[in-house]
Amino acid sequence: MSECVFCRIITGELPASFVYEDAIMCAFLDIQPINPGHLLVVPRIHADVMKALPREVARHMMEVAQQLMNGLREANLRCEGVNLFLADGEDAGQEVAHVHLHVIPRCKGDGFGFRFASDYGNQPQREELDKVAVAIREAMGET
Ligand SMILES: [Zn+2]
Repeated sequence: MSECVFCRIITGELPASFVYEDAIMCAFLDIQPINPGHLLVVPRIHADVMKALPREVARHMMEVAQQLMNGLREANLRCEGVNLFLADGEDAGQEVAHVHLHVIPRCKGDGFGFRFASDYGNQPQREELDKVAVAIREAMGET
């Protein structure tokens, strides 16, 4: 028996309100929704973080999210915009160690949002931005 709550939902051991299912992906409602219609797109295979997820599965996750976004806009729900959010790693706010993409319907005044907790985002110099870009490019093997 899996310890992973999403694997247990996928096998039917735990309940969920499903909105989408295919051979490699499913989507169901978040039980702690930001707004009505807050969905999670979840690959059927267990991968704890994005690095462990096959590229074609990651690609399909975005395709399913796009379909769900269309569904949210057509459904009889308040949905004036949509946020996609993926927390990769505990320090990024990932609470279930099975990759999942949040699809969050948004409406004016719902009170949800990101906030800057440090001063770093306050217009760093170009030199600093270029230095960071080089570090990431080199780590990716891009020249
Ligand atoms: Zn899992």
